[in-house]
Amino acid sequence: MKHLLTFDIEDWFQSTWDFDRPISDRALVNTQECLDLLEEFPVKATFFVQGMVTEKYPELIRQIHSAGHELASHAYSHRPLFSLGRSAFREELKRSIQSLENISGAKVIGFRAPDFSIERNMDWFWEELSEQGILYDSSVFPKKMRRYGFDHAPREPFRLEKFPIVELPLSVIEWGQKRFPFGGGGYLRLLPYALTSLCMKRMSRENIPTMLYLHPYELAENDFKGEEIPWKIQLHQGLFRSRIKPRLRKLLKTFQFQTCGELIHERKIGRTAIL
Ligand SMILES: [Zn+2]
Repeated sequence: MKHLLTFDIEDWFQSTWDFDRPISDRALVNTQECLDLLEEFPVKATFFVQGMVTEKYPELIRQIHSAGHELASHAYSHRPLFSLGRSAFREELKRSIQSLENISGAKVIGFRAPDFSIERNMDWFWEELSEQGILYDSSVFPKKMRRYGFDHAPREPFRLEKFPIVELPLSVIEWGQKRFPFGGGGYLRLLPYALTSLCMKRMSRENIPTMLYLHPYELAENDFKGEEIPWKIQLHQGLFRSRIKPRLRKLLKTFQFQTCGELIHERKIGRTAIL
């Protein structure tokens, strides 16, 4: 079983704290560190890059591409899609895809919404993706959380019934009637490594690839240095960041991974669903 390794490329201070701030060099430095770590392994990942980062650091995009990783879109401003609305989303998507394609020369076929910000009855979202040549999306969190997520969504890759798009959902494990997320972000920091590994093995037995998602800033322990961010948020966002690098190395040694683009070409995806 090949799992999926993905990174969302953004600057925490802009994407999470203040949308109006410019992208800082942290995005560049953290992503380069992440690329260096990946170099240690024969692994290729998918990088969902925010358009503001692409435009500021074209050289970084070339580095990601020449290392053999896949480039995909993570919109432009990182504003949630619920608040953007259809026409602003169209512009963001177009701009983010065009800049990635102009720099790398490679076709962009994948998308992930900032903060998984999609919900039911958002047909316009799927229409815009397919109109702009996107073949797969990875924004569905198959568990209802406070701000996002779908309790009824399949846990495995599926096709949207009304649109020519494959969905690669984020990973949750099922115990009894309940679903538990484990595949990235805070879950990867806070859960014991043994549990992450157990969940991935169980996903393999179910023939479902785990969607691992990380942000390069999570690999940076001192990301908040020199910034006035309330300690509660620093704790919530920064706790156990030092665990991420050794854990990622361990996961890369233990499991096999591929890019999202490779998966949609190789795997027969028969299941369909309506969101
Ligand atoms: Zn993001």
